[in-house]
Amino acid sequence: MNVPFLDLKAINQDCREKLIQAMTDVLDSGWYIQGQKLSEFERKFAEYCGTKFCLGVANGLDALTLTLRAWKTMGKLKSGDEVIVPANTYIASILAVTENDLVPVLVEPNDETFNLCPENVKRAITPRTRVMLPVHLYGQLADMPELMAIASEHNLLVLEDSAQSHGAQIDGRKSGSWGDASGFSFYPGKNLGALGDAGAITTNDPELYEVLKALRNYGSHEKYKNIYQGVNSRLDEIQAAILSVKLEVLDGQTTHRQKIANIYLGNIKNDTIKLPLAISSAQHVWHLFVIRSSHRQALQKFLMDNGVQTLIHYPIPPHKQDAYPTLKSLELPVTERMHEQVLSLPMGPTLSVEEALYVAQVCNRFVGKS
Ligand SMILES: *Cc1c(COP(=O)(O)O)cnc(C)c1O
Repeated sequence: MNVPFLDLKAINQDCREKLIQAMTDVLDSGWYIQGQKLSEFERKFAEYCGTKFCLGVANGLDALTLTLRAWKTMGKLKSGDEVIVPANTYIASILAVTENDLVPVLVEPNDETFNLCPENVKRAITPRTRVMLPVHLYGQLADMPELMAIASEHNLLVLEDSAQSHGAQIDGRKSGSWGDASGFSFYPGKNLGALGDAGAITTNDPELYEVLKALRNYGSHEKYKNIYQGVNSRLDEIQAAILSVKLEVLDGQTTHRQKIANIYLGNIKNDTIKLPLAISSAQHVWHLFVIRSSHRQALQKFLMDNGVQTLIHYPIPPHKQDAYPTLKSLELPVTERMHEQVLSLPMGPTLSVEEALYVAQVCNRFVGKS
């Protein structure tokens, strides 16, 4: 059997007719930027997340970068302020910080959940700390009740990186509704994916919303009147229309991901493989199903030889990237070990039960070699 890591083509075939209709509507409307389809998607996604506002932007990186930039514009942040980020995140979270001339403070994550560890956050706070940036990695929310309490005690702004956690919740409260603002990515492979690049910011803060609305559009609320030095980061009508169609099937797809995750959790039994910890399996949205093995290379090859495609998220931690020479001397053993051991199994809304059982069976046949 051949099991692909993620079959994007199959995922999008599921709502093919509706997608074609949505694209045709935009084509025939003659309006392609900042129109009705965008405001419709923004309204629906804000409602989905449980926030007052949603603002579409060009991609997930821009969602994070522009929010920090807006806080600078509003006088809430200044160059050199410190932002606490999990050391094992995807590099985009850190690029958003450094792009704004802010200082990323890399904190070791919880070794079981891959998410920000509240104790380590407390230890990292200095008089210059102004923002906490929890990343809900792989689809599970960080410990938001605890992290929000720390943020409020130390008067920190909270920017959630929700790029991997559309619809994930704790106590019925969704990703994107916990912090002062949240950045989402709709990159095609994300749980809610466009047919190209797209992103959004959610917030309950009307002032932030107004500033962001101008920043994404050349710093302008009114045509040819520029109040900020803004950028062009708009979510175009075609992608917005596509996202509205796909938002309708998101919860059903999440339920399917949870079913696949439960098959893996219940059927993979191999002492050399560590399964991910789901605080509550029903609220984890399983963007990725990440196992750990101290024999990762051999395991990945064994799976490949048996037709199972896997990926590594991520092979190199941000502080070891050439892009950040000044971070290279940091010692972050928990993070470094994660990057040596993590392996993502096939996961997605079109993966079948038979395929998942086959993947589990192949995992169980693997004999760890040192
Ligand atoms: C995908 C991703 C981003 C960036 O999203 P883009 O739309 O690709 O710019 C940011 N943070 C995390 C954790 C991501 O997984």
